[in-house]
Amino acid sequence: MNETLSLFDDDARERIEALRKEIDHHIYLYYVKDAPEISDGAFDSLMHELRELEAEHPEFFDPNSPTQRVGGAVGEQFAPVRHERRMYSLDDAMNIEELDAWMDRVIDALGELPELVCELKIDGSGIALTYEDGALVRAATRGDGTTGEDVTANIRTIKDVPLRLHEAGLADVVRDGSFEVRGEVYMPKSSFETLNAAAEANGKQGFANPRNAAAGSLRQKDPKITANRDLATFLYAIADEQAITADGQAELLEWLGACGFHVNPDVTRCKTREEVHEFCQRAVERRDDLPYEIDGVVVKVNSFTRQAAMGYTARAPRWAMAFKFPPEEKATKLIGITVQVGRTGALTPVAELEPVSVAGSTVARATLHNEDEVRRKDVRIGDTVIVRKAGDVIPEVLGPVESLRPADAREWRMPPECPSCGSPVIREEGEVAYRCISIDCPAQAQERLVHWASRGAMDIDGMGDEIVGRLVESGRVTDVADYYSLDEIELSLLDMGRVNKEGNPIRLGETVAKKLVAQIEESKARPFARVLFGIGMRHVGKTVAEAIAAAFPTIDLLMEADEEALAAVEGIGPKIAHSIYVFLRTPQNKQVIERLRKAGVNMADEPTDKGEQLPQTLAGLTFVLTGALVQSGMTRDEAGAQLKARGAKVSGSVSKKTSYVVAGEAAGSKYDKAISLGVPVLDENQLLAILETGEIPE
Ligand code: NAD
Repeated sequence: MNETLSLFDDDARERIEALRKEIDHHIYLYYVKDAPEISDGAFDSLMHELRELEAEHPEFFDPNSPTQRVGGAVGEQFAPVRHERRMYSLDDAMNIEELDAWMDRVIDALGELPELVCELKIDGSGIALTYEDGALVRAATRGDGTTGEDVTANIRTIKDVPLRLHEAGLADVVRDGSFEVRGEVYMPKSSFETLNAAAEANGKQGFANPRNAAAGSLRQKDPKITANRDLATFLYAIADEQAITADGQAELLEWLGACGFHVNPDVTRCKTREEVHEFCQRAVERRDDLPYEIDGVVVKVNSFTRQAAMGYTARAPRWAMAFKFPPEEKATKLIGITVQVGRTGALTPVAELEPVSVAGSTVARATLHNEDEVRRKDVRIGDTVIVRKAGDVIPEVLGPVESLRPADAREWRMPPECPSCGSPVIREEGEVAYRCISIDCPAQAQERLVHWASRGAMDIDGMGDEIVGRLVESGRVTDVADYYSLDEIELSLLDMGRVNKEGNPIRLGETVAKKLVAQIEESKARPFARVLFGIGMRHVGKTVAEAIAAAFPTIDLLMEADEEALAAVEGIGPKIAHSIYVFLRTPQNKQVIERLRKAGVNMADEPTDKGEQLPQTLAGLTFVLTGALVQSGMTRDEAGAQLKARGAKVSGSVSKKTSYVVAGEAAGSKYDKAISLGVPVLDENQLLAILETGEIPE
């Protein structure tokens, strides 16, 4: 956050203090109450800002700052256990560049890149188990790293924790007496879902995530409750590696397995950076399919001797690094709120943000939907806000961090005039959106033109915001029919509104013009449903457009239909029917449709060839696909499309209504859920047989 660097000292001190207070509050909720209010990603970005500010201003150093601590507070309901050797945290690499920078530091320290061991970072709660003469005598939480809580009675209830170790492992213990192994207690995703569903059914609040559920279940006063919580463990460390014959992390894991501990099988020894990158990439891809939560990968120097040579910082080993998955939520600043005019004239407030990287992409703007939403969330200009972006989903502002609100934060109101054409805006009764209803509003025209050319509509590749903007400005294009009278020469001369080094205007150029004209030509043959979607009738999205085209396969039939006939189509209610009816009777729209028809744009649904539709032998069945289809190399989407072509439904989640779960390689929680619900599971061979014959095998 560059802006913070320019803060005056007083402002910096104030911000540092506010952040410390806010972070301490979240640490308490997370570690003591097991009930966080914000996501880990949002928490981490507050912590990141504090670390940066403290580095900038060493004069405000405080040993009690949350940046100086390991983990959380130690609760009072259990007896304290002092860890003989400190339980450290891990330093984080938030992306591959930071992970590479750590590998550079390893090379600097050791003279070469040593063998590394990659493990999954289990999102659970750290534990330390002490064994004496092969028997479990004590179990403690990590606590603040120095002192944990005695949870022996509870740990004893976890089925995969050996109470007595296997002889095969004990043979490799070089010291008699006691030793302490360390690892993670976690709750499988399916158990977490069941637990929360039960809590909900009893009107109680569930846990925020499996990690807090594991920590909370482990710290129950009554071990009987813990016993019912279906916890599990993965062990991966020993407090004093001198106690065993293993000479490195990889051998240690083998030894733990020989002792009878549950050891995560996803471990890879890596000799090069590329191998490490590959492991991280694979972990990102497989994350959702694993039956337990992971929040990253831990990369460790394998050799114990080399680990010792690198040592520890105050809170973490230098010889290990946690590569964290891109968080889906982050905190950033709301710099302003602008208003965007959509193609139907709806005015949408848009949050202008200090750019942050969320879920792997940079987010600088996010929709705030409408004025009511801005009020409800109470976001103000100048606020620190939490931004969320999951996968391909559009970024969203979740809300402000109120305690970090600056005194000069400003409330926002919808402007009374359209920012594009200056016409007064109105809000119709029962609607949340303010609208500009001027037919001459250039912003609306531009949005309609961009929408027509977009992927799901007429798919005119290359016709994006910038070129459309120039075409509108030049006055050459005002409605979608105008696209079809553009020729190569005039397009190539289109002034792009910029100048080159010599001060001459930059033009679109022949190559792009040629490609665009070819694309426009190709768009004429798009299916009728796409035309209906592209033309931009209110309330008519892709699905509705498909339903209309199926019921009224030509534009003439559609134009003749009255509101009643339209509303009789499955999926179309009176509101949509009214909007279509009015649109098709508006003279300007009729004219545009006529000009499109004359230009040769497809205005009728192609009759489907006989035999093109496969026999619907799978109608009524619901499939869920999980894991990788390695034999056929098909993606799950491709296989799903083939199932749908035979009438089946394909769903993303397993329920009692699922007919079959197809489990490919490395199938995860969905497989477990299928088993627990008694849903039949098919392997890839069986899937291929179904796709070939169209029949479910006996
Ligand atoms: P951490 O949990 O990110 O990483 C360190 C821990 O990883 C280790 O102590 C160990 O227990 C664990 N681990 C899992 N798999 C491992 C493996 N294979 N090898 C070694 N260690 C492994 O660090 P932390 O300091 O314990 O906690 C910080 C985390 O807690 C962050 O993710 C933060 O976002 C979250 N947090 C969230 C909130 C909130 O309000 N949402 C509040 C406080 C902390």
